[in-house]
Amino acid sequence: MNREGIKKAGLIIKDGGLVAFPTETVYGLGGDALNPESSKKIYEAKGRPSDNPLIVHIADIDDIYGIASMEDDGYPMDGIEDKMLSLARAFWPGPLTVILNKTDRVPHETTGGLDTVAIRMPSDNIAREFIRASGGYIAAPSANISGRPSPTRVKHVIEDMDGRIDMIIDGGDVDIGVESTIIDLTDKPAMILRPGAITIDMLRDVIGEVVYAPNLRGEDKDKAPKAPGMKYRHYAPKGELTVVRGLRENVAAYINDKAALYKSDLIKVGVICVDEHVLDYKAEIVRCIGKQGDDEEASKRLYSILRDFDTEGVEVIYSEELGAEGIGVALRNRLLKAAGQRIVDTG
Ligand code: AMP
Ligand code: MG
Repeated sequence: MNREGIKKAGLIIKDGGLVAFPTETVYGLGGDALNPESSKKIYEAKGRPSDNPLIVHIADIDDIYGIASMEDDGYPMDGIEDKMLSLARAFWPGPLTVILNKTDRVPHETTGGLDTVAIRMPSDNIAREFIRASGGYIAAPSANISGRPSPTRVKHVIEDMDGRIDMIIDGGDVDIGVESTIIDLTDKPAMILRPGAITIDMLRDVIGEVVYAPNLRGEDKDKAPKAPGMKYRHYAPKGELTVVRGLRENVAAYINDKAALYKSDLIKVGVICVDEHVLDYKAEIVRCIGKQGDDEEASKRLYSILRDFDTEGVEVIYSEELGAEGIGVALRNRLLKAAGQRIVDTG
């Protein structure tokens, strides 16, 4: 995208329009974060419930002061500004979203009615140029129809958003493929609401104590998660996905049995596995997600594979269990969400 294109995109935002743009995590659907009408349009275009807040994207650290308040009754809040600035220095621009109290400039339409605001500075250069050209504050959720997997390629954005928004900026395939880590600094201790490429250990190294939200620790499963978006069935393909865990041969036997049964009913089955296991499976469509243990590669490919299954009319999907440490925590979180937490243990 050339300078003229970015300038045009900026003018569309200033005019209250919507532009989809690349970031390093997934494609975003951007509108003017300070214009309540723009935020309403974002919810409409996505078909997203309006109590699910948007992340405000900025291009310069100092811009947090325009939208976030780190004071209480005129007094600085205990250590919050230090933590915010330490995180920004360590991880911005990059895949970390920080939650702070909002100022009056941020309309409740953007924050889904909350008095807090989620802020991120993306590392993608096109994204930052676009944010600057737009006046500095872009509200953006992922650029997918609500409930579908987030877009990691421009063709996914076109599939979901063509005709619903004013412009799509093509930045090629994204680098990371899972959404940003969200950390809430208004909580004590600071709390991770959504895992992403910035891991809990990386955050602890910079600000000390950090915990996972109860719903990510497997506790309080019935309690509404603090990131309202985490309560919706998210990232999901049209086909019914089940994660199958266990010894390699047991997993393959289980999936192959099921695939044979479904085949006799003319139901299309898709399988997600690591490269090394591709010959284990006899299903109609088998998709490799990268080498065993390469969670970065798997994170990059997951949503795209799920969308391909949709395109091919796959009705039943089985995946090997994926993700362990590091970005693998986020990968596992998204895979299980896409599966509606359905997991079969074959021993
Ligand atoms: P998306 O980028 O489409 O995944 O959506 C943004 C995510 O950020 C959603 O899961 C929201 O619930 C979460 N989020 C945004 N603002 C806040 C906030 N103020 N408090 C908690 N979660 C938030
Ligand atoms: Mg999303």
